[in-house]
Amino acid sequence: MKIDILTLFPNMFTGVFSESILKKAQEKKAVSINVINFREFADNKHQTVDDYPYGGGAGMVLKPQPIFDAVAHLAKHANNARIILLCPQGERYTQKKAEELAKESHLILICGHYEGYDERIREHLVTDEISIGDYVLTGGELGAMVIVDSVVRLLPGVLGNETSSVHDSFSSGLLEHPQYTRPADFRGLKVPDVLLSGNHRLIEEWRQKESLRRTFLRRPDLLEQYELTEQQKKWLEEFQKNER
Ligand code: SAM
Repeated sequence: MKIDILTLFPNMFTGVFSESILKKAQEKKAVSINVINFREFADNKHQTVDDYPYGGGAGMVLKPQPIFDAVAHLAKHANNARIILLCPQGERYTQKKAEELAKESHLILICGHYEGYDERIREHLVTDEISIGDYVLTGGELGAMVIVDSVVRLLPGVLGNETSSVHDSFSSGLLEHPQYTRPADFRGLKVPDVLLSGNHRLIEEWRQKESLRRTFLRRPDLLEQYELTEQQKKWLEEFQKNER
């Protein structure tokens, strides 16, 4: 996968992309990430990328020209890129969207700043508008990092164990079950017996039940779109009875 990031603050990405899984993913050539300052594409003498809003008002608006030209340059050899605008008014980002984007070969992420973008960028250039949550950030850089991290860890070969993202919260539609590690008894706080039993069938059943319990208690909204098995329906009734 190729990921291009258009930003006015390329240095913000240095630490995040040169550590841990993202660093390894680039070394393994699972992904190539380029951070580009779109100011370089401004066609005016002072490389200005923003201007006052028509109609007046506070703040500056990003001009269309530098961003249109930067995207045209990046998509020159491939016209199938997903062109993603980071913006608080966009579709709210989810694991499902990360899985969808992980199937693409080329992503171009556009990070805004100031008051926002000229509307023609939104209407005539991008394929997706993504918000990472219902709050307003200073710029799109943190959002771009969130998208890159969540997509790259899904690419084949990036996580050591190919299955290790399968049970992650949201991947299955539910939250992940609780996890424990040694010691089995930490200051009197004990690990559930079943996890020490060595019985893989019972352990798997416990994990499935606890994953459902956790989702029921913390994120019941996720269950509205989840298709329950007969066994899960019984567990759910049990949890609901215990609640009363
Ligand atoms: N005036 C804009 C509005 O009300 O929609 C907000 C502009 S914000 C200060 C500047 C930039 O930060 C946005 O253009 C966008 O790139 C980024 N940004 C802010 N909040 C974001 C969010 N929740 N998700 C993704 N990007 C965000």
